Amino acid sequence: MKNVKSPSPSRRSKAAPARRVSTRQRSAYKVAEVEEIFRRFSVQRPEPKGELEHVNPFTLVVAVALSAQATDAGVNKATRPLFAVADTPEKMLALGEERLRDYIKTIGLYRNKAKNVIALSEKLIADFGGEVPRTREELITLPGVGRKTANVVLQMAFGLAAIAVDTHIFRIANRIRLAPGKTPDEVEVHLLRVVPEKYLFHAHHWLILHGRYVCKARRPECERCVIADLCKSPEKTCDIPAPLVELPPQVIPVPG
Ligand code: SF4
Repeated sequence: MKNVKSPSPSRRSKAAPARRVSTRQRSAYKVAEVEEIFRRFSVQRPEPKGELEHVNPFTLVVAVALSAQATDAGVNKATRPLFAVADTPEKMLALGEERLRDYIKTIGLYRNKAKNVIALSEKLIADFGGEVPRTREELITLPGVGRKTANVVLQMAFGLAAIAVDTHIFRIANRIRLAPGKTPDEVEVHLLRVVPEKYLFHAHHWLILHGRYVCKARRPECERCVIADLCKSPEKTCDIPAPLVELPPQVIPVPG
């Protein structure tokens, strides 16, 4: 089973909130510096891709809803056979909650997640003609779908430049003072303002990967960092940037 092809990089989500960012929360970087940071990320990983397997927007919503507090590999293992029999809301309802539970019982919180998947399938049919809606406001009306899930779906299924702020993105945005904020929502709003338009589409994957493999939570590995010369983090331990080369594909966890 293959991921659906990402639509071409495109515009910012129209649903992006437009709150003001206070002076205290300003980015520590000039426009040209932010541009250079993301240029380097784009050289390292020209086409970053999410790992959750799906065959259409509906199965992506289901996969993301199932991925909370679970690994992508674990979700993929369960959803491969599930999506072979239920890749639309109608088929999911025909399968029913009990049989759905059997498919996903290896995933944490599966009882509650099965309830949500059935409920969201019902709502998609009742309110959206069986189609996954394309706005954040509509997506978050679906049971089990929060803002973060909605952002992942907007980006991966519909090609909208949305940023789903996970623990890695939240940490980096604050640690290096790129887009400081007290909450994931504040960081999301701030990132949408500071990241150059042409880099917005892949920004959240780049930041997640940077946080997962280099700017790690306990100890950032600054000697392996391609933006070490630009970084303004007080935690930085090295000023010399790592060589800028394209990296082999790496696993991108869906924000959980
Ligand atoms: S230099 Fe260190 S602190 Fe700054 S982004 Fe790189 S890894 Fe993170």
